[in-house]
Amino acid sequence: MEKLLELAAKFPAASEYLSTIYLIRRDYEKVTNAKLAERMEVSRPAVSQAVKRLKSLDLVDQDLYGLIKLTEKGENYASSVLRRHYLIEHLLVDMLAYPWEKSDVEAKNLQDKISTEFTNHLYEKLGRPDRCPHGNPMPGSEAEKTIVKSTRLHHAELGQVVRVQRITEEGEEIPGLLHACHEFGIRPNEIFLVKEKNEENLNLVRVSDDARGVINNLFASYIDIETIGI
Ligand SMILES: [Zn+2]
Repeated sequence: MEKLLELAAKFPAASEYLSTIYLIRRDYEKVTNAKLAERMEVSRPAVSQAVKRLKSLDLVDQDLYGLIKLTEKGENYASSVLRRHYLIEHLLVDMLAYPWEKSDVEAKNLQDKISTEFTNHLYEKLGRPDRCPHGNPMPGSEAEKTIVKSTRLHHAELGQVVRVQRITEEGEEIPGLLHACHEFGIRPNEIFLVKEKNEENLNLVRVSDDARGVINNLFASYIDIETIGI
């Protein structure tokens, strides 16, 4: 059996732990038990247990300050889980016309069930995408270097014109967020003008058709943008 499938069979939560550690590091650099517990929505003792198990499998390490790091082996697993996740999302959205805002959940269910051969087949068939349908870059891609450090939408200024880069993986997990984005067409590459701003919301105008929409600041804080004009 392939290594990833083997690991998934004996430690089902491993793929989610490893990919979550990868994603926290990508966005915040430091991975603590507390942050991991928050993202995995489990207790801290549960995280400690899991980390212990991942350590015994030589997938993670912890330094003197308790910061969690992926070993080379852990890094490889995390990258291949995320790659599968993103390709399944594309399969669902691009080929099967499954709703964009629901694809993340289904992809999670399937991500450690498919073989490397099928993953590579998907990659070719889908035209070698370098990000997921929500804009998150493939591990190791060029896109990963630029997208990850961009500005978040709630920091956009009044009158600015911004292009959406991605709905962060963390944001995809916030209940209602993808749905709200879908309702108003907030997707990678769409361009918006920041028309109004207050403590709770941003009022946006979609440049392509002048449609108006509102997004709350909490949701906006999980959306990466690039400024293209004022
Ligand atoms: Zn996605």
